[in-house]
Order: sequence, then C-alpha cells, then structure tokens
Amino acid sequence: MRPINEIIIHCTATPAGRPVSVDEINGWHLARNWSGIGYHRVIHLDGRREAGRPIEQIGAHVEEHNTGTVGVVYVGGTASNIHVAADTRTPEQKQALLAEIIDLRDRFNIRKLSGHRDYDKGKACPSFDARAEYAYLFPDSAVTYTIGDQMLRRGDHGPAVEAWTEQLRRFREMIDHKWPIEATDVFDHTVEMVTIWFQKHRGIVADGVVGPQTRDEMMRALAGKPPYRALLE
Ligand SMILES: [Zn+2]
Repeated sequence: MRPINEIIIHCTATPAGRPVSVDEINGWHLARNWSGIGYHRVIHLDGRREAGRPIEQIGAHVEEHNTGTVGVVYVGGTASNIHVAADTRTPEQKQALLAEIIDLRDRFNIRKLSGHRDYDKGKACPSFDARAEYAYLFPDSAVTYTIGDQMLRRGDHGPAVEAWTEQLRRFREMIDHKWPIEATDVFDHTVEMVTIWFQKHRGIVADGVVGPQTRDEMMRALAGKPPYRALLE
C-alpha cells in the first residue's frame, strides 16, 4: 500500500440535484488524457458511496499533491448556474461524506484533511471550507506535513524542503543516529548528505535527490515498516 497521510475533498462542479455517475467522471478524465477517474471515492446525492480509482493507485485530483493523498468527491458543488459555487450537499451526502472520511482516516491512520481550494486558490472546489468543517476529526493537522510531488535537490528552498528535512530529523531521532540535522527550508550540502545517508540506509538509489521513491521510503520508515527493497528479496 502506498503511504497516505491526507484526504482531499472535491466536488464534481455540477448543479444541485444533477446525478453524476462514476462512468461519467471517468469519461471527463479520460478526455483530459488521464488514466481514467482521478478520484478514489465518489459520494452520490442519495448518500451512496462508490469507489473510483483504486486507493492503492496515486490519484489525479490536485496538482502537486497526488502523492500521499486520497481524493474524495461529492456530486454537486454549483448553483443552477455552473459558474456559481454552492455547497449543494444533501443531508444524505453530508452524512455519507462524514462516514467516508472517518473510515479512510481510521483505515490508513490519516492525520490531515484539506479541500482542493486549500491548494489551488483559483478554485472554489469543494465549495465549502473542508478543513474547518472536519477540523475536530484531525487534531494533528497543523503539524502533519503535506507530501508535495515535486523533486527536491541541492539548491532548492521552501516549505517542501522544510517538510522533507523535518522527516529526516524525525527518522534520525527514531533510529538514534548522530547526523546533525534540523528542519530547514534550505536544501544545502548537509541536507544532501543526510538524504544520501537515508537512501543508503534504506537500500534505495543514493543520489541525494528527493523523488517519489525516496518519499515513499520515508513514509515507510516513519511508519516503522521495513525497507521496500526488503520485501522484494
Ligand atoms: Zn477539486
């Protein structure tokens, strides 16, 4: 199972009361040249909960935040004029969405939830403040890092580097190794060396570059799981 630490909520951006099937969404996303429906779970108007893309597969629902997330969409999200965002969730949908969120949280030990618009300020999706509404279910949210998809390497800086170095620091602490590493938003020589050390320690390609394999391996490491390679041997 891929590491998942965040649920992201969406709407289909269709008018109140209009049913939308998984097949229809699949068609929209195929038309964008994606490998079919990008969401993992679909919440219908009548409260039915349906599977979209298998949860084991990385979704296609929010730019730069597909690694490490699961995408849940409810049908609706606009007024009769589809250019006007509206929280159109029926009572059945609200109940089903809540149940889905709790199930996912407990099944994968997910510690964070966001709405699509929290990562794309140009979008209204999911037409309500998901973080605020479900904050009581995710008390650790503020300290749980988002796993961005971008590659990180020496010379980079910003919050994604800080998230990575915080993970390195936590891992170093877990195994009580003496590398001097603190969370920093600058990917400097030290961060590169510690990244290489981590990669060697886990038996993956030791190039000092943080890509999907290194991120996945870190999620395994922090969850106390053996290196992925060990499973293959
Ligand atoms: Zn969305």
